[in-house]
This record gives sequence, structure tokens and C-alpha cells, in this order.
Amino acid sequence: MSKGNTQRKIQMVDLKGQYFKIKKDIDKAIADVIGTSAFINGPAVGRFSSALAQYTGSSNVITCGNGTDALQIALMALGLKPGDEVIVPAFTYVASAEVIALLGLKPVLTDVNRTTFNTDIRFVEKALTPRTRAIIPVHLFGQSCDMAPLMEFASAHGLYVVEDNAQSLGAVYTFPDGSRRHAGTVGHIGCTSFFPSKNLGCYGDGGALFTDDPVLAERIRMIANHGQKVKYHHETVGCNSRLDTIQAAVLEVKLRHLDEYCTARREAASRYRELLKDVEGIELPAESPFSTHVYHQFTLKVDEDCRDALKEHLASCGIPSMIYYPLPLHFQKAYHQEGASFPNAEHLASSVLSLPMHTELTPRMQTRIAGAVKEFFAERDNGRQ
Ligand SMILES: *Cc1c(COP(=O)(O)O)cnc(C)c1O
Repeated sequence: MSKGNTQRKIQMVDLKGQYFKIKKDIDKAIADVIGTSAFINGPAVGRFSSALAQYTGSSNVITCGNGTDALQIALMALGLKPGDEVIVPAFTYVASAEVIALLGLKPVLTDVNRTTFNTDIRFVEKALTPRTRAIIPVHLFGQSCDMAPLMEFASAHGLYVVEDNAQSLGAVYTFPDGSRRHAGTVGHIGCTSFFPSKNLGCYGDGGALFTDDPVLAERIRMIANHGQKVKYHHETVGCNSRLDTIQAAVLEVKLRHLDEYCTARREAASRYRELLKDVEGIELPAESPFSTHVYHQFTLKVDEDCRDALKEHLASCGIPSMIYYPLPLHFQKAYHQEGASFPNAEHLASSVLSLPMHTELTPRMQTRIAGAVKEFFAERDNGRQ
């Protein structure tokens, strides 16, 4: 009998498996929305916003259509002028920089920390000019950037900080004085995404903004709603960006499980660490001392000359893996910067490989994945002798 028949297929994310565990609650929540037919701005939207505010400790949570909209609305709320510069890492998902360019602002790319993959004050400092108005730190793969030095720097230079927390909802940052805050609630505005594969994902598109500033909160609400506070009275140019009631109802159920989802991801990460600790040719993801890690991704750094071959080997064993991100932004056609060189971002783009990471990953699956990784390096080392 072939061994393959009895093995569950390994996926990068397993949304179906996660759904079946909470199916009853989800189905009821969705049916309730359909039953009342309050599809836009129904009661679940307000309930979910309050629950998320409570969970994160943010004074205001404003939901919107998706994480990219959240970033765009955040920048719109700051009242920046065309040509104003916004500092953003070169190693990130495109949305972080896209919204800057879209608003006629200037994305100023910076290198990132080679160990944590994250925004690093040392490179942000170098990017400062008299036109700098804001910084977008990106909390990549599940842990917070080092926010204290960034906030200090921003305050010294009168800059806004908009956190891109699409990947690290649930992570907690510890300040040097020991006080703790959720990632996404430290800057002037924080943004997140509820894209299905994110740590708190809905069943379609969704996003949210966080702010403790009541004036910014009011502006954000107004901008997300066509620039109006009173219906048909438009004070500013806005957009139309809303979280559907059905998505809010799904998120309301799933938020109750977020801590247990974070724990499941962390446990999967420590199993990977144990299984892969002696493998030469890879570097395991680093955990920052100042942030908890909620493992949106478990991202290896692989020797540059064999990363793609490892990915192919895993695929041939039926194991998916992903390269987040294959090109830094300064190498993208749309964001090309003449003469720009960010060695860490470039190195990461050619060495990262993310292994399957989700809440339904079993020890047995991980043993298979790690086995395939080890097999690859054993074969490589034999070939070298
Ligand atoms: C997913 C993601 C976004 C965008 O979120 P959407 O909901 O897909 O628009 C922005 N930034 C980062 C870092 C992301 O991972």
C-alpha cells in the first residue's frame, strides 16, 4: 500500500480545517446576518470593533474594506501634501508602499534588519530629509518592529508613525521600561488586514485601523465613509471602504479563538525549531527580545545558492513552500529607484523560504516537512564529497 494514501495533504494554510472546528458558531453567525439582512453596517460590525478594541487595548478600532484600504485611509487622515516623503521598508508586501505612491506622496525605501526582517531605526535615520512626514514600519511575519526607538525618532522630528500590522495582529511589544502594548497600537495609527490567510482572517476581504487619537479616529471614520459625517454632506474627499456585516460576524467568532490560534502557531514553530535545529545550510527565524512572535510565517533563511533547489525538492515531496518576497521593492518595475542598493533586503529576497504554517499543522506533518528539508541537505552534502 502506498504511504501517500494515508497521509493528509500538507498545505501552506488550512482554512477549511480551521473552519470545521468552529463550523457551528460560524454558520449560525452568518445565518443570523442573512436573517436580519443588515448586510452593511449591521450590528456585528460595531460589536466586532468593540471586541477588537478590548482585545488590543486600542481606544478606537475602525473597520474597513481591506488592509490596503486601511493604509491608504491612514495616510489620507494625516493630511499630507503631494511630494511629502514617507519612509517604508524595501522588503515588504507591495501594499505598504503602493498606497504612498497612489496618494501622490513619495515612498522612500530603506533597508531592513537582516535578522528580524523588520524595519530598523538605523536605516530609517539615514532616510530622513526635510520633506519626511511619516514612517510606515512593517511588522513582518508575526513579530513587532522595535518601536521605542522609532517613536522617539518620530517625535524628535515631528513625524507620524503608521504601523502596517497586517501580519502580526496579536503580537505584543515590550518597551524598554517594561510596559507592553499590542503591535499596531503603538504608532499614531495602526493598520491590519483580515485577508483569509492572515492570523485573524475572515471569509473574504476585511481590514481595520487603530488609533488612540480621537481627532484622527473621527477623520478616519469620515474618510472611510465618503468624507461625510452627516449623510450627503461631504467635508473632505473620502472613499468607500467598509467591512461587510457577514465578515464582521465571522471575525467576531474567530476573535474569541485568536489567542488559541497564536498558541497553535507558536507550538508549531517550536516543533520546527526542534526538528530543524541541527540542519546546516538554513537559519531558523529569530525571535526578538522585545516582541512576542505570532508566526504569521515560519521563514527560513537558506544558503542563497540552494534556496530555489530546496523549494523544488520540497515540491517534489508534495510539500508547498513560499518565497515572501522574491523581489525587494527597489527591484520592482513600479517602484524602481535608480542606483538604490539595500543589501539586507536583497540578501533576504534571495534566501527566504517560508514553510507551511497554520493552526491545523500536526506534529506528523511537520516531521514529514523537516524530513524532506534534511533529505535535501544530506543529498547536497553527499554530492559535494
Ligand atoms: C496582507 C498585507 C497587506 C494588505 O492587506 P489586504 O487586506 O490584502 O489589502 C498590507 N501589508 C502587508 C504587510 C500585508 O501582509
